[in-house]
Amino acid sequence: MQAFRTAATVIDGLSDDQLDLKIGTNTLEGLKGVGPTTAAVVVQAHKGQVPDYLTTLEANLAELVPLADDVAEFRAALKGDLHTHSDWSDGGSPIREMAEAAMALGHEYMALTDHSPRLTVANGLSPERLEKQLDIVATLNEELAPFRILTGIEVDINVDGSLDQTDELLGRLDVVVASVHSDLRADAASMTARMLAAIADPHTDVLGHCTGRLVIGRRQRNGTQRPRPESQFDAEAVFGACVQFGTAVEINSRPERLDPPKRLLRQAAEMGCEFAIDTDAHAPGQLDWQGNGCQRAVECGVDPDRVVNTWSAERLLDWTS
Ligand SMILES: [Zn+2]
Ligand SMILES: [Zn+2]
Repeated sequence: MQAFRTAATVIDGLSDDQLDLKIGTNTLEGLKGVGPTTAAVVVQAHKGQVPDYLTTLEANLAELVPLADDVAEFRAALKGDLHTHSDWSDGGSPIREMAEAAMALGHEYMALTDHSPRLTVANGLSPERLEKQLDIVATLNEELAPFRILTGIEVDINVDGSLDQTDELLGRLDVVVASVHSDLRADAASMTARMLAAIADPHTDVLGHCTGRLVIGRRQRNGTQRPRPESQFDAEAVFGACVQFGTAVEINSRPERLDPPKRLLRQAAEMGCEFAIDTDAHAPGQLDWQGNGCQRAVECGVDPDRVVNTWSAERLLDWTS
């Protein structure tokens, strides 16, 4: 890239006539910073053509992120994201920047789901801070309409299965994602009971990253986390409860999570669960990760109409309330 910049500065210094002469006499390559590749780009661009170099570059880039047609179609059906973080908890960006990035993706809504109080390592929101956040979201929504920031939380599922926020506040939120973040190595019976209690809670709308696995390590501000195995639980009981209580199973698109694993995703789909394909974005660029989840949804036979974030905001809010 630097080579092109140097060449561009040199070429920029030439008059049109000088450039025509250089091209006509095939002497571009003698100029500082201009080699055969750059010279070919300059000649084609000067003729008003798209340089072959650029065409090849674009083709190679497209190959790096192939989205099959059915996956692309699935993704295009998503109207929003139900799991995102801002700098109020452990995200890196203000709420407005997250919302603007979601708008740029063509989304109609984004649930803002910062962490709950007990997740102190992630700067979880106390009831007071969450109240303050609700006011700010209300103001932002007036400005950003018709785009809508749905109020929400990623609430910790406590060890006893209760949720880590006041009942009153949970009742006021549009979207409640409930996730296990502690005691991930508990025995299957305890973990199942804990998850079942949270799924049955009338405030819970989405069960976040259900196995808690990390398929690759990751760096966080409080140190490096190594890959970790899935939590153990009775999947049939958990997904059965999700169907019974109308709790969507999250398909978490973060590259280090990709949770649930495909065998569990297939099982949940066969059992008739609803799903939310979420990014769990902690930065605006990460809102682009839904393709990962869509890829897995297609592979595991998930019907787009069972994915609650393909629904309009009205239908979604009807469902969550
Ligand atoms: Zn989480
Ligand atoms: Zn999260």
